[in-house]
Amino acid sequence: MNDTIYTIDHFAEIIQAKSFIANPKLNVTRLVIDSRSVIDPENSLFFALSSKRDGHEYLEDAYKNGIRSFVISDAAYLEKFRDANILLVADVLLALQRLAIVHREQYDLKVLAITGSNGKTIVKEWLYQLLASDFNIVRSPKSFNSQIGVPLSVWNISDEHTLGIFEAGISKENEMEALQRIIQPTIGILTNLGEAHAEGFASQKDKLLEKLKLFKDTDLFIYSPEYILDLPVSELPGQTKFSWSMKQKADLQISFIEPIEDRNYVRALFKGAEIECLIPFSDRASVENGIICWAGLLSMGYSPEEADARLEKLTRVGMRLELKNGINQCSVIDDSYSADISSLAIALDFLNLQNQHAKKTLILSDLHETGKNQEELYTEISALLKQKNLSRLIGIGPHISASAALFDMDTSFFQSTQDFIDHFPAIHFSNETILVKGARKFEFERISKLITQKVHDTVLEIDLNALAGNLQFYRNKLRPQVKIMAMVKAFSYGSGSFEIANVLQYHKVDYLAVAYTDEGVALRKGGITLPIMVMSPEPSAFDAIVKYNLEPEIYNLDILSSFINFLSADAYDYPVHLKIDTGMHRLGFEEGDLTELLEMIRGSRKVKVVSAFSHLVGSEDEHHDAFTKHQMERFSAFTRQISDGLGYKFIWHISNTSGITRHPEAQLDMVRIGIGLYGYDGGLDRNHGLQTVAVLKTTVTQVKEIKPNETIGYGRRGILPDGGTTATVKIGYADGYNRRFGNGIGKMLINGKLVPTVGVICMDMCMLDVTGLEVKTGDEVIVFNGELTIANLAEQIQTIPYEILTNISQRVKRVYFYE
Ligand SMILES: *Cc1c(COP(=O)(O)O)cnc(C)c1O
Repeated sequence: MNDTIYTIDHFAEIIQAKSFIANPKLNVTRLVIDSRSVIDPENSLFFALSSKRDGHEYLEDAYKNGIRSFVISDAAYLEKFRDANILLVADVLLALQRLAIVHREQYDLKVLAITGSNGKTIVKEWLYQLLASDFNIVRSPKSFNSQIGVPLSVWNISDEHTLGIFEAGISKENEMEALQRIIQPTIGILTNLGEAHAEGFASQKDKLLEKLKLFKDTDLFIYSPEYILDLPVSELPGQTKFSWSMKQKADLQISFIEPIEDRNYVRALFKGAEIECLIPFSDRASVENGIICWAGLLSMGYSPEEADARLEKLTRVGMRLELKNGINQCSVIDDSYSADISSLAIALDFLNLQNQHAKKTLILSDLHETGKNQEELYTEISALLKQKNLSRLIGIGPHISASAALFDMDTSFFQSTQDFIDHFPAIHFSNETILVKGARKFEFERISKLITQKVHDTVLEIDLNALAGNLQFYRNKLRPQVKIMAMVKAFSYGSGSFEIANVLQYHKVDYLAVAYTDEGVALRKGGITLPIMVMSPEPSAFDAIVKYNLEPEIYNLDILSSFINFLSADAYDYPVHLKIDTGMHRLGFEEGDLTELLEMIRGSRKVKVVSAFSHLVGSEDEHHDAFTKHQMERFSAFTRQISDGLGYKFIWHISNTSGITRHPEAQLDMVRIGIGLYGYDGGLDRNHGLQTVAVLKTTVTQVKEIKPNETIGYGRRGILPDGGTTATVKIGYADGYNRRFGNGIGKMLINGKLVPTVGVICMDMCMLDVTGLEVKTGDEVIVFNGELTIANLAEQIQTIPYEILTNISQRVKRVYFYE
């Protein structure tokens, strides 16, 4: 939000829109691109941006959420909302960018822009931490760095700001010019140049030149000679240049890096003198990002002593919301690292997307928001909480407590975190979703510890943004009208139940499918309202199917007749799905069933076929392409007969994940996406384009020195002939780490090094050979992630990734992340 008041007429003029103004008095302070997340609808302007889906499809939604001003490009929608302001333009994205350019031009402030292949968001957040005591800073929210994210970020500049820090990201040629015009940076930082987005550019050099366009008018440009290829310095942008390097001569020339516990001590040459700093992180990427920030501070004139003092206090950037199981059947969303209105709004949206509990509680600290007095600030927050249907507020801190009268809902207030903790035994929490949101200095992690269940040291981390990204990846491959059924059977391939389904529902898939009735019931109880297909509808569960409005898969005449008989006499058109066997030979009708099938359905008005489907047996494998084609033909011919025989239309579907990737012609009316959502697709070349959703982690419980020829584990199967070191880790076959991984077959990652198992896998533990490595109790161990993938593990024990994922036992706690 910014304080500049623009009238809607003024807007229309700036973006050269044809305008239809119903209410000229509306002032627009917020720009909205997602119809679902709206903070202040009256003062919001909605942009019908199109990606794969036409943005105009969301106008209705936005209107329902209270928005009355719209920028559109399709004249067909002009007359849609009589009481709304409509601005018609040729290109909605250009209009958004134009607005940001004009807005930016009104301010004469220092603006620092960051681009590069990695580290943009961390460097931005760290510079914010480092400079916040000297400037009133406006910065990009999260990693808003795209053609859309940058204008939305720049829009937030207002009078009180003295420094802007914005990131810019590009994925192909000719994208940077627009971002440069919007940001108009005065200082530039190139973080690095890696392989990311290589496919969008003819060469690395082209990519570099495109990135550098961002900095063309800067006064100061900060870079490393290691990332400018062979470009001569004279061709670099920036009136003044400042370089840093770990390898060659530079303004800040790193001479020495030494890890000390979990920090890094760094020495460098600067203006002919030796200087030093302490970067409070141990990993390589953080050290590089820290050095970039160091270069930033020095080049902006901070003394080496001051820079060191500030860097030492850097804290981890907590950009992710964590969803965990809480005490007394609560769900807890943990965001104990930041507190400002826009991140609060994002967290509240995530709270609302989780429907498992009707009751929603927010534990909120004092907020720090520049340029607003307390009353304005908490009035705005109060309105926001109301709009987001919050049930209860627990406010912590002197300011929010002093504003108690502004909140009309169930509230309680505490002066400090300690005050809350002292009263904790008397505060009641049960069956609710609790959002914990506090500024860092309130140390709300102490509160989350109290209200979450203790997580056993082995956890499966699920990245919900990656899941949504994978959904979008497949959506982009579909023809516009094709529906999506998301397969959430087997606990969503091991990833979770309502936690996953709520995200899929939010992202508007059309159907869900589960294997068994109780899985469907659990989803209904978790607040899922989407239609749900049950693939194995056991007759003993028909009751629950009907009670919870689930839709059975009907795969033979027996099950059809028992379902019809089960339904009460006045049942009418109950939705069912027909499974057709086209070659799997598992379940399903075959051509010989046609006459009886038609008779039975036509003879009873109780059921209605809403879809017919079949399953491909080898869609990922080109050796089976002829058979896939045969399955499709058989499906089409048979389904046509059913549809003709019934005299009505229904949804046809046959494609699974790899079917979408490899057989576009098999999309029909709907596709069923399973494993692709969870980050694996056997039909893709090395999973290209998918994001890793699940990371399985455990920890080292003990480290042991082993003498030559001593044996390790049950049956004396493990041996280190020359002796060595083992690490015992807390994962065993009861957690889903198969026994076949024993004796060196399986490998895990410790501190970035791949290490083999030694001896057999026990029920709750196993041992790793860490000879020669620095490993200690409590170290984190990766069982699989984006680097050591489920496909690698599957290969090690000759199975398929599906089995690796679904085998992870329920006792392994799932923790969900959302940005
Ligand atoms: C599991 C399943 C799918 C999903 O398959 P993926 O290969 O995981 O995409 C699709 N259809 C049916 C009938 C299934 O049982």
